[in-house]
Amino acid sequence: MEMRLISNVEEIFVKSGAILKGHFQLTSGLHSPVYWEKFCILQSPDMTSRLCHMISTHFASQEIQVVVGPTTGGIILAYEVARQLETRGIFAEKKKGEARAFRRGFGIGLGERVLIVDDILTTGKSITEVVNLIAKEGGKVIGIGVLVDRSEQEQDFGVPLFSCLRSATPAYTPSNCPLCVAGIPLVKPKRSDT
Ligand SMILES: [Zn+2]
Repeated sequence: MEMRLISNVEEIFVKSGAILKGHFQLTSGLHSPVYWEKFCILQSPDMTSRLCHMISTHFASQEIQVVVGPTTGGIILAYEVARQLETRGIFAEKKKGEARAFRRGFGIGLGERVLIVDDILTTGKSITEVVNLIAKEGGKVIGIGVLVDRSEQEQDFGVPLFSCLRSATPAYTPSNCPLCVAGIPLVKPKRSDT
C-alpha cells in the first residue's frame, strides 16, 4: 500500500515536469544534478490538493490550530492544508535584510498548535526560520509537512517531519562539485524568492 502511494507521488512529480536534470545552482548556493521546479506542481490545484491531502491526513489527529508556510510556495500550501484541516492558514514573509516575520496582521496565539508546511526541503533554512519565529510568538510546533525532502542528510527540527516524497539528492559546494569539474554548464534557475 505504502509503495503504491510512493510511486504515485513520484509519478505526480515526473508528469508535472517538476524534476529537472543537469547542473543547477540552488538557492543555498550549492550545486546539484537535480532541480525541483515546485511551481510545476503548485500551478495545479489538483496535484497540489492531492499532495496536501497526504500532509493533512498525516497530522489530522494532532488538533492543529494554525498552518504556517514560508513564502512563496508555502502560501499556497498553508492555504490548502488549512482548508483541509479546517483551521487558519497563514504565511511568514522575508524582507531584504530582515528576519522572516508575520505581516498583514498575522500572528500566533500563546500555546497555539502549529503545523509548518513547505514545498522543497533542501537545507532546512526557511523551515528553521519559521520554527524560530513561532517559538518567539509563543506557539507550539507540532510537526512539519513538506512536499519533497531532498536533503542529503536527514534533518532534525526537534519535531516530527513528514514528506510526501523522500528523495535524497546530492548537493555540492561549488569548489567540490564534480559537475563543475566535468565542465557541464551551470544553470541558475530564475526566481524572485525561494
Ligand atoms: Zn557545479
